[in-house]
Amino acid sequence: MKSRFPTINTDAGATSVAQAPANKVHGRLKPSLVAIALFLASAAQAAPAPDPARFAPCLAELKPDAQGRGVSGAAFDRLTASLVPDMKVLELLDYQPEFRTAIWDYLAALVDDERVADGRAMQAQWSEVLKAVAARYRVDPATVVAVWGVESNFGRNFGARPLLTSLSTLSCYGRRQAYFRGEFFDALKIVDSGDVKAEQLTGSWAGAFGHTQFMPSTFLRLAVDFDDDGRRDLVGSVPDALASTANFLKKAGWREGEPWGYEVRLPSGFDASNAGRRNKQPLASWSARGVTRIDGSPLGGGDAPAGLMLPAGPRGPAFLVFRNFDAIYGYNAAESYALAIAHLADRLKGGQPFATPWPTDDPGLSRVERRELQTLLIARGHAIGSVDGMLGDASRSAIRVEQQRLGHSIDGRAGQKLLTALKDSRP
Ligand code: CA
Repeated sequence: MKSRFPTINTDAGATSVAQAPANKVHGRLKPSLVAIALFLASAAQAAPAPDPARFAPCLAELKPDAQGRGVSGAAFDRLTASLVPDMKVLELLDYQPEFRTAIWDYLAALVDDERVADGRAMQAQWSEVLKAVAARYRVDPATVVAVWGVESNFGRNFGARPLLTSLSTLSCYGRRQAYFRGEFFDALKIVDSGDVKAEQLTGSWAGAFGHTQFMPSTFLRLAVDFDDDGRRDLVGSVPDALASTANFLKKAGWREGEPWGYEVRLPSGFDASNAGRRNKQPLASWSARGVTRIDGSPLGGGDAPAGLMLPAGPRGPAFLVFRNFDAIYGYNAAESYALAIAHLADRLKGGQPFATPWPTDDPGLSRVERRELQTLLIARGHAIGSVDGMLGDASRSAIRVEQQRLGHSIDGRAGQKLLTALKDSRP
Protein backbone atom coordinates (compact mmCIF):
# COMPACT_ATOMS: atom_id res chain seq x y z
CA MET A 1 0.00 0.00 0.00
CA LYS A 2 2.71 2.34 0.71
CA SER A 3 5.99 2.61 -0.73
CA ARG A 4 8.53 2.59 1.78
CA PHE A 5 10.09 -0.60 2.56
CA PRO A 6 12.16 -1.47 5.37
CA THR A 7 12.70 -5.03 4.51
CA ILE A 8 14.54 -7.51 6.49
CA ASN A 9 17.08 -9.62 4.86
CA THR A 10 18.66 -12.26 6.84
CA ASP A 11 21.68 -13.14 4.93
CA ALA A 12 24.98 -13.70 6.63
CA GLY A 13 23.25 -13.77 9.93
CA ALA A 14 22.80 -10.02 10.06
CA THR A 15 19.46 -8.48 9.59
CA SER A 16 19.61 -5.67 7.23
CA VAL A 17 17.29 -3.19 5.73
CA ALA A 18 17.90 -1.92 2.31
CA GLN A 19 17.94 1.81 2.32
CA ALA A 20 16.40 3.58 -0.55
CA PRO A 21 14.15 6.42 -1.38
CA ALA A 22 10.49 5.92 -1.58
CA ASN A 23 9.70 2.65 -3.09
CA LYS A 24 6.28 1.48 -2.48
CA VAL A 25 5.56 0.15 -5.73
CA HIS A 26 3.29 -2.66 -5.36
CA GLY A 27 -0.20 -3.39 -4.44
CA ARG A 28 0.40 -3.76 -0.76
CA LEU A 29 3.51 -1.72 -0.52
CA LYS A 30 3.26 1.90 -0.79
CA PRO A 31 6.05 4.05 -2.03
CA SER A 32 7.21 6.33 0.69
CA LEU A 33 9.87 8.37 2.25
CA VAL A 34 11.70 5.88 4.35
CA ALA A 35 11.57 3.40 1.61
CA ILE A 36 13.41 0.28 1.37
CA ALA A 37 13.63 -1.55 -1.79
CA LEU A 38 14.14 -5.18 -2.06
CA PHE A 39 11.75 -5.07 -4.74
CA LEU A 40 13.52 -2.88 -7.08
CA ALA A 41 16.41 -5.17 -6.88
CA SER A 42 14.45 -7.83 -8.62
CA ALA A 43 13.03 -7.89 -12.04
CA ALA A 44 14.61 -5.01 -13.81
CA GLN A 45 13.38 -5.28 -17.32
CA ALA A 46 14.78 -3.63 -20.36
CA ALA A 47 12.96 -0.38 -20.95
CA PRO A 48 13.06 1.86 -23.98
CA ALA A 49 15.33 4.85 -23.55
CA PRO A 50 13.35 7.74 -22.11
CA ASP A 51 12.60 10.02 -25.00
CA PRO A 52 10.88 13.24 -23.89
CA ALA A 53 9.22 13.52 -27.30
CA ARG A 54 7.19 10.42 -26.51
CA PHE A 55 5.51 12.10 -23.55
CA ALA A 56 2.75 14.03 -25.34
CA PRO A 57 1.70 11.08 -27.52
CA CYS A 58 1.75 8.86 -24.44
CA LEU A 59 -0.57 11.23 -22.57
CA ALA A 60 -2.89 11.24 -25.55
CA GLU A 61 -2.98 7.44 -25.42
CA LEU A 62 -3.66 7.49 -21.69
CA LYS A 63 -6.66 9.78 -21.96
CA PRO A 64 -9.23 7.15 -22.95
CA ASP A 65 -7.95 4.83 -20.20
CA ALA A 66 -8.25 7.65 -17.70
CA GLN A 67 -11.79 8.32 -18.87
CA GLY A 68 -12.55 4.64 -18.43
CA ARG A 69 -11.36 4.99 -14.85
CA GLY A 70 -13.66 7.90 -14.12
CA VAL A 71 -11.54 10.93 -15.00
CA SER A 72 -13.48 13.31 -17.23
CA GLY A 73 -11.90 14.27 -20.54
CA ALA A 74 -12.04 17.93 -19.59
CA ALA A 75 -10.29 17.29 -16.28
CA PHE A 76 -7.66 15.19 -17.98
CA ASP A 77 -6.93 17.92 -20.52
CA ARG A 78 -6.84 20.67 -17.92
CA LEU A 79 -4.65 18.81 -15.42
CA THR A 80 -2.18 17.39 -17.92
CA ALA A 81 -1.84 20.41 -20.24
CA SER A 82 1.29 21.78 -18.62
CA LEU A 83 2.90 18.54 -17.49
CA VAL A 84 6.55 18.00 -18.40
CA PRO A 85 8.15 14.64 -17.64
CA ASP A 86 10.73 14.43 -14.86
CA MET A 87 13.25 11.81 -15.95
CA LYS A 88 14.90 11.93 -12.52
CA VAL A 89 12.16 9.76 -11.09
CA LEU A 90 13.17 6.98 -13.47
CA GLU A 91 16.59 6.87 -11.83
CA LEU A 92 14.89 6.56 -8.47
CA LEU A 93 12.68 3.79 -9.82
CA ASP A 94 15.73 1.84 -10.87
CA TYR A 95 17.90 2.76 -7.93
CA GLN A 96 19.30 -0.34 -6.34
CA PRO A 97 20.63 0.50 -2.97
CA GLU A 98 24.08 -0.78 -2.34
CA PHE A 99 23.92 0.27 1.22
CA ARG A 100 21.91 -1.94 3.51
CA THR A 101 20.92 -0.65 6.86
CA ALA A 102 21.11 -2.89 9.88
CA ILE A 103 17.89 -2.97 11.84
CA TRP A 104 19.59 -1.29 14.80
CA ASP A 105 20.58 1.62 12.58
CA TYR A 106 17.11 1.82 11.10
CA LEU A 107 15.42 1.91 14.49
CA ALA A 108 18.03 4.23 16.05
CA ALA A 109 17.01 7.00 13.68
CA LEU A 110 13.27 6.31 13.48
CA VAL A 111 12.63 5.83 17.18
CA ASP A 112 14.93 8.27 18.94
CA ASP A 113 14.34 10.53 21.95
CA GLU A 114 13.68 13.44 19.62
CA ARG A 115 10.81 11.66 17.86
CA VAL A 116 9.38 10.51 21.18
CA ALA A 117 9.45 14.10 22.48
CA ASP A 118 7.95 15.45 19.25
CA GLY A 119 5.28 12.77 19.35
CA ARG A 120 4.32 13.60 22.91
CA ALA A 121 4.03 17.25 21.98
CA MET A 122 1.73 16.26 19.11
CA GLN A 123 -0.31 14.04 21.40
CA ALA A 124 -0.84 17.02 23.68
CA GLN A 125 -1.58 19.44 20.86
CA TRP A 126 -4.06 17.13 19.14
CA SER A 127 -5.45 15.37 22.21
CA GLU A 128 -9.09 16.23 21.52
CA VAL A 129 -8.89 15.11 17.92
CA LEU A 130 -7.07 11.93 18.91
CA LYS A 131 -9.71 11.15 21.49
CA ALA A 132 -12.45 11.56 18.90
CA VAL A 133 -10.52 9.51 16.33
CA ALA A 134 -9.97 6.69 18.83
CA ALA A 135 -13.65 6.75 19.75
CA ARG A 136 -14.79 6.49 16.15
CA TYR A 137 -12.27 3.98 14.78
CA ARG A 138 -11.42 2.02 17.92
CA VAL A 139 -7.71 2.00 17.32
CA ASP A 140 -4.85 2.96 19.60
CA PRO A 141 -4.20 6.70 19.21
CA ALA A 142 -0.50 6.37 20.08
CA THR A 143 -0.08 4.00 17.15
CA VAL A 144 -1.75 6.54 14.88
CA VAL A 145 0.65 9.23 16.11
CA ALA A 146 3.59 6.86 15.63
CA VAL A 147 2.60 6.28 12.00
CA TRP A 148 2.41 10.04 11.50
CA GLY A 149 5.87 10.45 13.04
CA VAL A 150 7.50 7.83 10.89
CA GLU A 151 5.67 8.68 7.68
CA SER A 152 6.20 12.44 7.54
CA ASN A 153 7.99 13.34 10.78
CA PHE A 154 4.70 14.78 12.03
CA GLY A 155 4.02 16.74 8.89
CA ARG A 156 7.51 18.18 8.46
CA ASN A 157 8.47 16.10 5.47
CA PHE A 158 5.94 15.44 2.76
CA GLY A 159 8.36 15.06 -0.11
CA ALA A 160 8.68 17.84 -2.65
CA ARG A 161 8.04 16.21 -6.00
CA PRO A 162 4.87 17.26 -7.80
CA LEU A 163 2.82 14.09 -7.88
CA LEU A 164 1.19 14.54 -11.26
CA THR A 165 4.62 15.09 -12.80
CA SER A 166 6.16 12.02 -11.17
CA LEU A 167 3.21 9.75 -11.79
CA SER A 168 2.71 10.83 -15.41
CA THR A 169 6.41 10.22 -16.06
CA LEU A 170 6.26 6.80 -14.46
CA SER A 171 3.11 6.08 -16.47
CA CYS A 172 4.93 6.66 -19.75
CA TYR A 173 8.46 5.42 -19.04
CA GLY A 174 10.12 2.72 -17.03
CA ARG A 175 9.21 -0.74 -15.99
CA ARG A 176 6.10 -0.40 -13.86
CA GLN A 177 3.91 1.71 -16.12
CA ALA A 178 0.72 -0.28 -15.60
CA TYR A 179 0.91 0.16 -11.84
CA PHE A 180 1.74 3.85 -12.00
CA ARG A 181 -1.01 4.58 -14.52
CA GLY A 182 -3.56 3.47 -11.98
CA GLU A 183 -2.00 5.76 -9.38
CA PHE A 184 -1.80 8.60 -11.90
CA PHE A 185 -5.48 8.33 -12.76
CA ASP A 186 -6.35 8.20 -9.08
CA ALA A 187 -4.24 11.31 -8.45
CA LEU A 188 -6.12 13.11 -11.23
CA LYS A 189 -9.39 12.13 -9.58
CA ILE A 190 -8.21 13.47 -6.23
CA VAL A 191 -7.33 16.85 -7.73
CA ASP A 192 -10.48 16.98 -9.86
CA SER A 193 -12.65 16.25 -6.83
CA GLY A 194 -11.20 19.26 -5.03
CA ASP A 195 -9.93 17.22 -2.09
CA VAL A 196 -6.35 18.36 -2.62
CA LYS A 197 -5.11 21.05 -4.99
CA ALA A 198 -2.60 20.01 -7.65
CA GLU A 199 0.04 22.40 -6.33
CA GLN A 200 -0.29 20.88 -2.86
CA LEU A 201 0.00 17.39 -4.19
CA THR A 202 3.70 16.74 -3.72
CA GLY A 203 5.36 13.74 -2.28
CA SER A 204 7.85 10.97 -2.67
CA TRP A 205 8.98 10.14 -6.18
CA ALA A 206 6.63 7.18 -6.30
CA GLY A 207 3.50 9.08 -5.38
CA ALA A 208 2.94 8.81 -1.62
CA PHE A 209 1.83 12.15 -0.23
CA GLY A 210 0.66 14.09 2.78
CA HIS A 211 0.94 13.62 6.53
CA THR A 212 0.33 9.91 6.26
CA GLN A 213 2.03 9.29 2.91
CA PHE A 214 -0.89 7.52 1.29
CA MET A 215 -0.65 6.48 -2.32
CA PRO A 216 -3.49 7.97 -4.43
CA SER A 217 -5.29 4.62 -4.63
CA THR A 218 -5.10 4.25 -0.85
CA PHE A 219 -6.41 7.77 -0.49
CA LEU A 220 -9.46 7.04 -2.63
CA ARG A 221 -10.15 3.88 -0.68
CA LEU A 222 -9.52 4.99 2.87
CA ALA A 223 -9.06 8.71 3.37
CA VAL A 224 -11.77 10.39 5.44
CA ASP A 225 -13.00 13.94 6.01
CA PHE A 226 -12.81 14.08 9.78
CA ASP A 227 -13.01 17.84 10.23
CA ASP A 228 -16.19 17.98 8.16
CA ASP A 229 -15.13 20.71 5.77
CA GLY A 230 -16.24 18.65 2.79
CA ARG A 231 -12.72 17.72 1.69
CA ARG A 232 -10.53 14.75 2.44
CA ASP A 233 -7.32 16.65 2.87
CA LEU A 234 -4.26 14.67 3.92
CA VAL A 235 -2.01 17.61 3.18
CA GLY A 236 -3.68 20.51 4.95
CA SER A 237 -5.70 18.82 7.68
CA VAL A 238 -4.14 16.98 10.60
CA PRO A 239 -7.54 15.70 11.77
CA ASP A 240 -8.23 14.22 8.32
CA ALA A 241 -4.77 12.65 8.28
CA LEU A 242 -5.00 11.13 11.76
CA ALA A 243 -8.48 9.78 11.14
CA SER A 244 -7.46 8.36 7.75
CA THR A 245 -4.59 6.49 9.36
CA ALA A 246 -6.92 5.18 12.02
CA ASN A 247 -9.37 4.11 9.33
CA PHE A 248 -6.56 2.31 7.55
CA LEU A 249 -5.54 0.42 10.68
CA LYS A 250 -9.12 -0.47 11.47
CA LYS A 251 -9.66 -1.84 7.95
CA ALA A 252 -6.37 -3.72 8.30
CA GLY A 253 -7.85 -5.59 11.26
CA TRP A 254 -6.86 -3.62 14.35
CA ARG A 255 -8.44 -5.01 17.51
CA GLU A 256 -9.10 -2.46 20.18
CA GLY A 257 -7.52 -3.05 23.56
CA GLU A 258 -5.09 -5.71 22.35
CA PRO A 259 -1.33 -5.16 22.31
CA TRP A 260 0.74 -5.34 19.12
CA GLY A 261 3.05 -7.65 21.02
CA TYR A 262 5.96 -7.25 23.41
CA GLU A 263 9.56 -8.11 23.98
CA VAL A 264 10.08 -11.56 25.48
CA ARG A 265 12.82 -13.62 27.03
CA LEU A 266 13.69 -17.01 25.58
CA PRO A 267 14.95 -19.83 27.79
CA SER A 268 18.53 -20.90 27.19
CA GLY A 269 18.82 -23.52 24.51
CA PHE A 270 15.53 -22.41 22.95
CA ASP A 271 14.92 -23.90 19.54
CA ALA A 272 14.09 -20.88 17.40
CA SER A 273 13.19 -22.84 14.30
CA ASN A 274 9.52 -21.94 14.81
CA ALA A 275 10.19 -18.22 14.69
CA GLY A 276 8.42 -16.01 12.21
CA ARG A 277 5.67 -13.42 12.30
CA ARG A 278 3.36 -15.55 10.22
CA ASN A 279 3.93 -18.71 12.20
CA LYS A 280 1.34 -17.93 14.84
CA GLN A 281 0.84 -20.30 17.75
CA PRO A 282 -1.32 -20.02 20.82
CA LEU A 283 0.23 -17.93 23.57
CA ALA A 284 -0.06 -20.90 25.91
CA SER A 285 2.22 -22.97 23.71
CA TRP A 286 4.96 -20.34 23.86
CA SER A 287 4.45 -20.28 27.61
CA ALA A 288 4.81 -24.02 27.76
CA ARG A 289 8.11 -23.75 25.93
CA GLY A 290 9.52 -21.46 28.59
CA VAL A 291 9.08 -18.09 26.90
CA THR A 292 8.39 -15.31 29.42
CA ARG A 293 7.83 -11.59 29.40
CA ILE A 294 11.11 -9.71 29.28
CA ASP A 295 11.03 -9.15 33.05
CA GLY A 296 10.70 -12.89 33.63
CA SER A 297 7.00 -12.83 34.48
CA PRO A 298 4.74 -15.40 32.86
CA LEU A 299 3.09 -14.75 29.49
CA GLY A 300 -0.16 -16.06 30.74
CA GLY A 301 -2.14 -18.67 28.99
CA GLY A 302 -4.80 -18.23 26.43
CA ASP A 303 -5.10 -19.06 22.82
CA ALA A 304 -4.28 -15.67 21.32
CA PRO A 305 -2.23 -16.41 18.20
CA ALA A 306 1.29 -15.07 18.56
CA GLY A 307 4.32 -15.21 16.30
CA LEU A 308 7.89 -15.09 17.56
CA MET A 309 9.89 -12.44 15.78
CA LEU A 310 13.68 -12.38 15.94
CA PRO A 311 14.56 -9.40 13.77
CA ALA A 312 18.30 -9.74 14.35
CA GLY A 313 18.44 -13.48 14.90
CA PRO A 314 18.41 -15.45 18.14
CA ARG A 315 21.08 -13.31 19.83
CA GLY A 316 19.07 -10.10 19.58
CA PRO A 317 15.78 -8.88 21.00
CA ALA A 318 12.87 -11.33 20.68
CA PHE A 319 9.22 -10.37 20.34
CA LEU A 320 5.89 -12.11 20.43
CA VAL A 321 3.59 -10.36 17.98
CA PHE A 322 -0.19 -10.53 17.69
CA ARG A 323 -2.78 -9.57 15.11
CA ASN A 324 -2.33 -5.86 15.67
CA PHE A 325 1.26 -6.13 14.55
CA ASP A 326 -0.05 -7.49 11.27
CA ALA A 327 -2.38 -4.51 10.98
CA ILE A 328 0.59 -2.18 11.23
CA TYR A 329 2.48 -4.35 8.76
CA GLY A 330 -0.41 -3.79 6.36
CA TYR A 331 0.44 -0.09 6.30
CA ASN A 332 3.80 -0.85 4.80
CA ALA A 333 4.82 -4.40 4.24
CA ALA A 334 8.05 -4.65 6.17
CA GLU A 335 8.59 -6.11 9.60
CA SER A 336 11.25 -3.56 10.50
CA TYR A 337 8.81 -0.77 9.63
CA ALA A 338 6.05 -2.31 11.72
CA LEU A 339 8.43 -2.77 14.65
CA ALA A 340 9.44 0.88 14.44
CA ILE A 341 5.80 1.99 14.57
CA ALA A 342 4.94 -0.42 17.38
CA HIS A 343 7.94 0.54 19.45
CA LEU A 344 7.44 4.26 18.93
CA ALA A 345 3.82 3.85 20.05
CA ASP A 346 5.04 2.12 23.22
CA ARG A 347 7.60 4.85 23.88
CA LEU A 348 4.90 7.49 23.43
CA LYS A 349 2.96 5.72 26.16
CA GLY A 350 5.94 5.79 28.51
CA GLY A 351 7.49 2.48 27.50
CA GLN A 352 11.21 1.88 27.71
CA PRO A 353 13.73 1.06 25.00
CA PHE A 354 14.13 -2.64 24.32
CA ALA A 355 15.80 -4.43 27.24
CA THR A 356 17.88 -6.77 25.10
CA PRO A 357 20.74 -5.09 23.28
CA TRP A 358 21.10 -5.57 19.54
CA PRO A 359 23.86 -8.05 18.70
CA THR A 360 26.45 -5.45 17.76
CA ASP A 361 29.35 -3.72 19.50
CA ASP A 362 28.74 -0.60 17.43
CA PRO A 363 25.15 0.63 17.95
CA GLY A 364 23.39 3.00 15.59
CA LEU A 365 23.03 6.76 15.76
CA SER A 366 20.00 8.83 16.62
CA ARG A 367 19.23 11.80 14.40
CA VAL A 368 20.88 14.17 16.89
CA GLU A 369 24.01 12.04 16.69
CA ARG A 370 23.81 11.91 12.90
CA ARG A 371 23.72 15.68 12.79
CA GLU A 372 26.68 15.79 15.17
CA LEU A 373 28.54 13.42 12.88
CA GLN A 374 27.71 15.52 9.83
CA THR A 375 28.99 18.63 11.62
CA LEU A 376 32.26 16.85 12.37
CA LEU A 377 32.56 15.75 8.74
CA ILE A 378 32.03 19.32 7.53
CA ALA A 379 34.66 20.55 10.01
CA ARG A 380 37.06 18.16 8.32
CA GLY A 381 36.40 19.73 4.96
CA HIS A 382 33.91 17.29 3.49
CA ALA A 383 31.31 18.91 1.24
CA ILE A 384 28.29 16.93 2.34
CA GLY A 385 25.65 19.61 2.03
CA SER A 386 23.48 20.64 4.92
CA VAL A 387 23.38 19.12 8.39
CA ASP A 388 20.04 17.38 8.22
CA GLY A 389 20.57 14.08 9.99
CA MET A 390 19.97 12.21 6.76
CA LEU A 391 22.96 10.27 5.63
CA GLY A 392 22.98 10.33 1.85
CA ASP A 393 25.60 9.35 -0.66
CA ALA A 394 27.78 12.39 0.04
CA SER A 395 27.85 11.70 3.77
CA ARG A 396 28.66 8.06 3.14
CA SER A 397 31.54 8.94 0.84
CA ALA A 398 32.94 11.26 3.48
CA ILE A 399 32.51 8.56 6.11
CA ARG A 400 34.54 6.16 3.97
CA VAL A 401 37.38 8.66 3.73
CA GLU A 402 37.39 9.12 7.51
CA GLN A 403 37.14 5.40 8.13
CA GLN A 404 40.20 4.87 5.99
CA ARG A 405 42.11 7.60 7.81
CA LEU A 406 41.14 6.14 11.19
CA GLY A 407 41.95 2.60 10.23
CA HIS A 408 38.33 1.47 10.66
CA SER A 409 36.72 -0.93 8.27
CA ILE A 410 35.58 1.06 5.26
CA ASP A 411 31.87 0.47 4.81
CA GLY A 412 30.33 3.94 4.79
CA ARG A 413 28.26 3.14 7.85
CA ALA A 414 27.74 5.68 10.61
CA GLY A 415 27.85 4.10 14.06
CA GLN A 416 28.85 5.01 17.59
CA LYS A 417 32.47 3.98 17.07
CA LEU A 418 33.00 6.38 14.20
CA LEU A 419 31.24 9.23 16.01
CA THR A 420 33.38 8.71 19.11
CA ALA A 421 36.59 8.47 17.10
CA LEU A 422 35.83 11.70 15.23
CA LYS A 423 34.98 13.51 18.44
CA ASP A 424 38.26 12.37 19.98
CA SER A 425 40.53 13.23 17.08
CA ARG A 426 41.40 16.72 15.98
CA PRO A 427 40.90 17.58 12.34
CA1 CA B 1 -11.54 17.75 5.78
